[in-house]
Amino acid sequence: MSDSPWVLPFSAAGGLPAERLGLKGLGLVTMASLELPVPPGLVLTTDTCAAFFAGGEVWPAGLQEQLEQGIQDLEARAGKRFGDLKDPLLVSVRSGAVVSMPGMMDTVLDIGLNHQATEALARRTGDPRFAWDSYRRFVQLFGDVVLGVHYTRFARAQAQVLQGRDIADVDVDGLREVVAALEAVVADHGAAFPHDPREQLRFAIDAVFRSYNSHRARYYRKTHGIPEDAGTAVYVQAMVFGNLGDQSCTGAVTTRNPNTGHRGLMGEWLPRTQGEVGSGHADPLPVTASMEREGATLEAAHPEVFAQLTDTCKRLEAHFCDMQRVEFTVEQGKLWLLQTSPAERTALASVQVVVDLVEEGVIDQRSALLRVDPRKLEYVLRPVIAPDAKRKVIARGLDASPGAASGRVVFEASECREHHERDEPTILVRLDTSPEDIQGMTLAAGILTARGGQTSHAAVVARGMGKPAVVGCTDIQVDYARQLFYAGDSVIRKGDWVTIDGGTGEVMEGRVNMLAPQTDVGAMAKLLAWADSAARLKVRANADTGADAARARTLGARGVGLCRTEHMFFQPDALRAMRRMILADDPRSRRRALNDILPIQRDMFRELFRNMDGLPVTVRLLDPPLHEFLPEREADIADVATDLGVRPESLRARLAQLHETNPMLGHRGVRIGVTSPEVYKTQARALFEAACELTREGVIVRPEVMVPLVGIAKELDRIQALVHDVAEQVFAEYGTEPEYAVGTMIELPRAALIAGQLAKQADFFSFGTNDLTQMVFGFSRDDMGKYFADYQREGILPTSPLAAFDVEGVGEMVRIGVERGRETNPRLPVGVCGEHGADPEGVAFFHSVGVDYVSCSPYRVPVARLAAAHAALGAGPG
Ligand code: ADP
Ligand code: MG
Ligand code: MG
Repeated sequence: MSDSPWVLPFSAAGGLPAERLGLKGLGLVTMASLELPVPPGLVLTTDTCAAFFAGGEVWPAGLQEQLEQGIQDLEARAGKRFGDLKDPLLVSVRSGAVVSMPGMMDTVLDIGLNHQATEALARRTGDPRFAWDSYRRFVQLFGDVVLGVHYTRFARAQAQVLQGRDIADVDVDGLREVVAALEAVVADHGAAFPHDPREQLRFAIDAVFRSYNSHRARYYRKTHGIPEDAGTAVYVQAMVFGNLGDQSCTGAVTTRNPNTGHRGLMGEWLPRTQGEVGSGHADPLPVTASMEREGATLEAAHPEVFAQLTDTCKRLEAHFCDMQRVEFTVEQGKLWLLQTSPAERTALASVQVVVDLVEEGVIDQRSALLRVDPRKLEYVLRPVIAPDAKRKVIARGLDASPGAASGRVVFEASECREHHERDEPTILVRLDTSPEDIQGMTLAAGILTARGGQTSHAAVVARGMGKPAVVGCTDIQVDYARQLFYAGDSVIRKGDWVTIDGGTGEVMEGRVNMLAPQTDVGAMAKLLAWADSAARLKVRANADTGADAARARTLGARGVGLCRTEHMFFQPDALRAMRRMILADDPRSRRRALNDILPIQRDMFRELFRNMDGLPVTVRLLDPPLHEFLPEREADIADVATDLGVRPESLRARLAQLHETNPMLGHRGVRIGVTSPEVYKTQARALFEAACELTREGVIVRPEVMVPLVGIAKELDRIQALVHDVAEQVFAEYGTEPEYAVGTMIELPRAALIAGQLAKQADFFSFGTNDLTQMVFGFSRDDMGKYFADYQREGILPTSPLAAFDVEGVGEMVRIGVERGRETNPRLPVGVCGEHGADPEGVAFFHSVGVDYVSCSPYRVPVARLAAAHAALGAGPG
């Protein structure tokens, strides 16, 4: 890179990429090229920073000369000279990393001031107070950032001189006295305060380079996954003064509302101030009138400046095609722009902004879709507590991160994982959180802390993740040792359900009824409609009940991809009948028990089919082993025996018979259909009766019967024949013939390998990626806990393949299954069911191998819809 310059004036750096200019530099250089009012400045590129560190923190050859030339260019543009004794040019030294690292690196303002320059500034502006106050702040800032004097030492020295007076009330002589005290602090620290402006500049540039390697900056990069070698650019920019007289101010705005995304400037300003809004010493005022904030608005105080700012923001948005955050300073009525960059925003706002930008003709639908990270949608889609829901509020804390969540209480972040893998939500309850908890926090449904405020670790991290959180909840007493917390009269133990509302700060006992988020209105509906027309993959939902199906439909599901029928057996009446069936000694009592199950299942199917009128519903025949329907604990065995009118011994004996060493590979799925065909017959009959009844009522029913755990073609043969038989009988009874299909799950490696054979008979395939993952890895999720944490820690497998789809291995199995299936039947419909259906990387892969649809839990349907669009538009995931 030796032939590319280290230093470039803003005006000569147009066209360089952000990788060399830094983010802030890209904004400054672009604004300069748009001829917006930007104080002139120089960029020291990121290469310069890299060369500085490569050379052992020494300036690379040529930098000194190029900087000197740059200063001359600056002087010519500003019409002032650096180090001049009459009208000195002052500069700031700013930093700009390639990836935003807010608040991590240092800025030094007012470089070039010393006693003589301060006197000169006082004479030129006719405002000695302004000049000496600027110098006072320069000594503090330079002393802190460059010379390493702790700022509290300055604060103490200043307080001693002021003796309780406010700095704003001190006259020029008082300010000189303060300055002398601050200079004494520097001298006492053992540092020589450089009075030569060029020396100040060199020191400041070094300090900003070094701040890139500070502990906190390195920590930030590590925790945010920012590469170490990206480096920072440094800017040397002519100062403008927001603290010079009544007609001066400083502020920052976003071009739209960063919370909702709605149009209109939003931001804060401070009259007669230099530097950052929100740096602590004063309460900033709102830029425009808003409901939440009081105080004089910039709009009212400086209407012309406001109009110019509004106009400028429009131009910046049009140029960058995105919502911006803009820093500005007004010096004696003249507006100066000091920064523009893409504005941080909530997930909700990011949807609103891209949809509005399309409607304003600024971007097209494709880029709107690609700009929203599908994973983030989940946060917009968080359910809210139903207004009329019964709830018992047991504590109140701070509303740190909006959204409601119910889950089981855990006190250790590491426990979130086990629950997560069982698909069970958790609420992580802590005194406070620390960076070691982050992994667990990503897996928790919500976070509750007893300590900390709105800027505590828990609050900041939860907001970043878009996770519901209540913090600083002093109403609760956490007792880690006993694994419980107290809230008023309630004692909540590990494993108990609680609900938190991060929008109100309420903590409630148990599970509270929630409303599905609205995706069928407004910007979200538009974006998802565009996604559907861009996508090839369709999205269905996993739904076991009519209510789930209805919810899934409002979230845009185009059918049910997986109904797990065992949930129907767990209904109390059905469960009793099921147990009687399992315990029956003779075929007659077995049939009688099944006859009791039939109407219950039929009603449940009716509800499901009705809510999916016109859409396909895939029903999986019974999958879990029969022993899961029998009680295990002694106390329960006695109860159940009494209830069924059998002796506990016979229950125990049957349980022993059914016991399996490895249920995961045991007597389950199609194996039940083979050994107890009457179970599958009953299910098929219930399903077809429901379908026929609804067909008569004019509902369009499209059932798809799915056989689980098939690994041998003859297994499928046999069950298919059974299902067709039942269908024929039922259709004859009802005199109607709804269309139906019988297909197979592909969840055993053997099934994928013989997919060519299976496709001869199967009407469809559905990859059960949860079991397939376990079978391909030879992991069982029930035993994984014993070793998996070590695998993660050692980096052997950083994420669980049950959470993030394993493209490399399991993906290969899916590819083989699809290819071989389609060789036999090119029109074979292929789906994927399991949570991988909403994992954007999984979706991209399924798209690429020709899968027709994915099916995931109802709340994640919108995530999958957008991920499917990303896949079709050829974006890599995330
Ligand atoms: P950060 O990265 O923390 O935002 P900045 O480099 O933007 O740091 O500087 C901090 C503050 O100083 C900002 O409010 C910025 O507008 C102000 N500032 C920086 N350079 C100048 C300048 N040349 N004239 C006036 N204000 C400046
Ligand atoms: Mg900073
Ligand atoms: Mg800034």
